[in-house]
Amino acid sequence: MNASTLNHLPTRILMGPGPSNVHPRVLKAMATPVIGHLDPMFLKVMDETRENLRLLFRTKNHFTIAISGTGSAGMEAAIVNILEPGDRIMIGVAGVFGERMCDVAGRCGAEVARIEAAWGDIITPEQIAAELKKQPTKVVAVVHAETSTGAHQPLQEIAKIAHEHGALLLVDAVTSLGGCEISVDDWGIDICYSGAQKCISCPPGLAPITFNERAMEAVRARKTKVQSWYLDMTMIERYWGEERFYHHTAPISMLYALAEALNIIMEEGLEARWQRHARLGAALHKGLEAMGLKLLAKQGHRLPMLTSVGIPEGVDDLVVRRSLLADLNIELGGGLGAFKGKAWRVGLMGESCCQANVLLILSALEALLCAQGITIPPGAGITKAAEALKT
Ligand SMILES: *Cc1c(COP(=O)(O)O)cnc(C)c1O
Repeated sequence: MNASTLNHLPTRILMGPGPSNVHPRVLKAMATPVIGHLDPMFLKVMDETRENLRLLFRTKNHFTIAISGTGSAGMEAAIVNILEPGDRIMIGVAGVFGERMCDVAGRCGAEVARIEAAWGDIITPEQIAAELKKQPTKVVAVVHAETSTGAHQPLQEIAKIAHEHGALLLVDAVTSLGGCEISVDDWGIDICYSGAQKCISCPPGLAPITFNERAMEAVRARKTKVQSWYLDMTMIERYWGEERFYHHTAPISMLYALAEALNIIMEEGLEARWQRHARLGAALHKGLEAMGLKLLAKQGHRLPMLTSVGIPEGVDDLVVRRSLLADLNIELGGGLGAFKGKAWRVGLMGESCCQANVLLILSALEALLCAQGITIPPGAGITKAAEALKT
């Protein structure tokens, strides 16, 4: 990369599907001196991080760590460790990330049963129950917050049904963790992974993950080796555990960042943080609808931290997003897969989730849509959002 580009990067308002804005304290933590990854002081940082990750996942699971890699590495770690060739996994597919899980599971030689729902919709417990009755299944996997659609998948009922049929529940919480409730122990989630750069508001590069004892027993009972050396949990467990058995060099500065991002989350308090996201997400939804825009996730199942909104007929997706970026320094997400060119994805994740950003994006969209010939009652969005914020 040309050094002059790096030295001229702008500061952006990150309102897409991630990364989200990073607190200056986290950036400062990354500038902490690099020490050895087996240095006793660094091991303490790892231990404290583990403890905070348990609080964040709301679990007592011993096996709770951060995988060196992004959210997709968390996904891959969860799946490759639990599946052996021939195992059956049922995966809920209602967007890009459910689809990605199927791809990963297929590469493990597993038998993949897809349970599908329309984009923007959720997978129902009835669908899962019907499929589980057909054949013994080792794992049921769903995406808690489908970032490609903005749908919020309920989990508790599915956990119950999976367990009644002797299956483990594996959950993708990449976008939800730190932004809305996910209670791994109370809800009966057996394996759960996330990513650093969404509602945790850390730069990308680490994937928090947790396995309960039932899941770890299944991993230890494997007849075949985990196909991925790097993501083999039985080896990583020895590295993060008492033994400190060298496996790979932890990404030191990334772990500093995560440690500080978790400190910030704990200072705010988990419940306060969920509430902040819920309140601001609801205000954004009301504002967008007041502007005559259509929310694409099913009503009653909309995420606060990621909203997919339909692009009105005749509006040029790229013109709007380019202008947001170039003129206003705002990054907005484009549509993925079935929503490509048809939707924008507005992120309100972690540090990016603030009142100023809600009002900013509503007024910016009003200006840009009006410039493209769309009729919007002046100030309709921000008026409605501000009203919602008062209550
Ligand atoms: C972002 C995301 C991922 C992938 O994470 P990366 O950090 O991009 O590898 C997986 N699942 C969901 C639901 C996501 O939003």
